[in-house]
Amino acid sequence: METSRIPGFYKMGVDERRELLTKMESFTEEEKEYLFSKEPLGTDTADKMIENVIGTFPLPLGLGLNFQVNGKDYVVPMAIEEPSVVASASYIAKIVRNAGGFTTEATDRVMIGQIQVVGCPDFEAAKEAVLKEKDSLIEDANASYPSLVARGGGAEDLEVRILNEESDSIYGKMLILHIYINTCDAMGANIINTIAESLAPTVEKLTKGKVYLRILSNYADRCLARASCVIPPHLLESKGYTGEEVRDGVIHAYEFAASDPYRAVTHNKGIMNGIDPIVIATGNDWRAVEAAAHAHAARDGKYGSMTKWSKDEEGNLVGELELPMSVGTVGGSIRVHPIAKIAHKILDVESAQELAQVIVAVGLAQNLGALKALATDGIQKGHMALHSRSVAIAAGATGEMIDIIAERLIDEKEIRVGKAKELVEEYTK
Ligand code: NDP
Repeated sequence: METSRIPGFYKMGVDERRELLTKMESFTEEEKEYLFSKEPLGTDTADKMIENVIGTFPLPLGLGLNFQVNGKDYVVPMAIEEPSVVASASYIAKIVRNAGGFTTEATDRVMIGQIQVVGCPDFEAAKEAVLKEKDSLIEDANASYPSLVARGGGAEDLEVRILNEESDSIYGKMLILHIYINTCDAMGANIINTIAESLAPTVEKLTKGKVYLRILSNYADRCLARASCVIPPHLLESKGYTGEEVRDGVIHAYEFAASDPYRAVTHNKGIMNGIDPIVIATGNDWRAVEAAAHAHAARDGKYGSMTKWSKDEEGNLVGELELPMSVGTVGGSIRVHPIAKIAHKILDVESAQELAQVIVAVGLAQNLGALKALATDGIQKGHMALHSRSVAIAAGATGEMIDIIAERLIDEKEIRVGKAKELVEEYTK
């Protein structure tokens, strides 16, 4: 979309938002039908995606606004059940936009396939034999997936390690091959598994051992995306707090997460609050992204903060986030889930690398949203305002009643379903 600034979007009703979106985006009739229908994912399609299907599980789909990444505007589809995430991401994206937007970059999309070999009569000799045949193994890997090579991807490198070298147990000592594969615009799990399996017989011959596991590593540390932002303090100013106070509060909060795993887990969960919804909306494997993100946060041997916040010489707040980002714009459920396809259209990214960069920018925004709130008023004020609506709905409020009950709950400082039920009864008398 040309712009991600849609002032007053949050104040519109759902129908009004849909109307505006259809004016901004050239949806086909079929896309509109899927996006705005009561059953966006048909049971027939769902039944082909997983086993034992009995229905579907819908999530709210919202739009993260105001995002500007490397000078390009992005409207970000976010599928999430948690209140305040979309609002917070959009709010911070607006601040960062006024500071020049997010700057991002991504490495080549190189994923890792692992092959485990056990029971080699001589592990050192096995390692040498594999390394000697490295080029021909890479050639074999590429021969097993010619379409990937034709796209400019394919196997690029191979490494071998011996694990548990001193182990006396027959289960302990093993040879591990890493085959590095550029999966282009696909996440690549199936591609890599296919390649790893195709190499197994040759590897067994070379090592005189037995191959067990042949599967990708979800720790995609050669498939990284990075985002950063530089925010002058005056843009951080908020009611009762100077920009400098907010900036320092954010840095103190970061240092806490960097030094304490108990805090880091919550800090990082907040980052994934921004990342998971876009990964889910775009039909990507969010478990893979989650697993790799947390492993990356522990890469120095101690679990810490995924982000880094600091102050530069001019006193600006500087935020950085680097994560493995094994997402795709093709393959997996992207090709079958109608909403995932539409989400890609709304997001308008041309490659998996571009998608990965937008995702880390959203993660960085989400983190600043949480830290800014925590370092000032605390998150409950904003969070509970939104939470009160879910509580009102849980108590049976519908239509215009939802906002009225939600406001009463806030006014009376009692955001509980029991209280909401009393108010609903009172309202419907
Ligand atoms: P696919 O198996 O769908 O493979 C992607 C396919 O897309 C390629 O084989 C290729 O087919 C086609 N393609 C078209 N255009 C491109 C392009 N520009 N770049 C690359 N490929 C292109 O998906 P993935 O291999 O990505 O696997 C992802 C799925 O695997 C996810 O659903 C994930 O949940 C699941 N999975 C995850 C695991 C894990 O994380 N541990 C384990 C196993 C599965 P062609 O070359 O024939 O045109």
